Amino acid sequence: MYQIIDGKAISTQLKDELKERVSALKEQGKQPCLAVILVGEDPASTVYVGNKKKACEYIGIKSLSYELPESTTQEELLALIGKLNDDDSVNGILVQLPLPKHIDEDAVIQAISPKKDVDGFHPQSVGALCIGQPGFVSCTPAGIIELLKRSNIEIAGKECVVIGRSNIVGKPMSLLMLRENATVTICHSKTRDLKEVARRADILIVAIGKPKMITAEYVKEGAVVIDVGIHRLEGKKLCGDVDFDDVAPHTSAITPVPGGVGPMTIAMLMKNCVDAGE
Ligand code: NAD
Repeated sequence: MYQIIDGKAISTQLKDELKERVSALKEQGKQPCLAVILVGEDPASTVYVGNKKKACEYIGIKSLSYELPESTTQEELLALIGKLNDDDSVNGILVQLPLPKHIDEDAVIQAISPKKDVDGFHPQSVGALCIGQPGFVSCTPAGIIELLKRSNIEIAGKECVVIGRSNIVGKPMSLLMLRENATVTICHSKTRDLKEVARRADILIVAIGKPKMITAEYVKEGAVVIDVGIHRLEGKKLCGDVDFDDVAPHTSAITPVPGGVGPMTIAMLMKNCVDAGE
């Protein structure tokens, strides 16, 4: 029988621990504060920003909300980031992506002070992760490490295959698994014999963005499978990149969608904010 890795329960546990850390900070007269910037009215982004604000409220982090019109110029956005970088009462700055097309995302990410880069997207944060120095780590991959550890899944020495090489998931995920002493293989859209490579994995992490692409043929018997993908099917049901019903019986543990990796992303963002506050 396989274990379902319960991201909802683990994220709640983590948020409750963070609540205590925030109370301790408040007793010392410190108030962690996250500034959230949203440009335009993308419906998915609006939901994500709302969820982040709710999580801040739950934990006791102050959130400042900047909801800017679609017509905001890059200069205006950079000026706001500059102001928040200089504001000592702000510990974390988050710019919700994607940004409107007329704004250069890289320039915006690079404008955020690495000390307040709670999304972990700044090149300095990524570089620090790469060479094993302290720094903020991208929330989804960091959340996956928490899921594995809190589910008592051994990482050191294991064969880990990460499918996907995006800057926000696949690449930092691979670096984190390496930091945890796994033997890591990174696959992507040009990988030959993906099934064969994926079947080597003791821990298979899937971040492709293709609904239910990973079937049982990609999975070694008894592997741990982590599904990062999230898709809304017709009829509004959610699914991941992994065909859960086909794959789950062949695993020793697997994350569901919803309720697996998703809830951990916001919890880790909160953790980064509390770390910044401390
Ligand atoms: P992305 O589109 O930036 O990257 C996808 C990666 O998959 C690319 O590196 C590409 O090379 C690889 N790929 C595409 N097709 C492939 C194929 N046929 N075979 C092998 N590799 C292939 O996506 P992303 O931002 O990394 O996100 C991946 C998925 O995770 C999406 O469904 C996204 O919605 C989801 N996501 C979820 C969370 C969360 O909190 N749960 C966070 C971020 C992303």
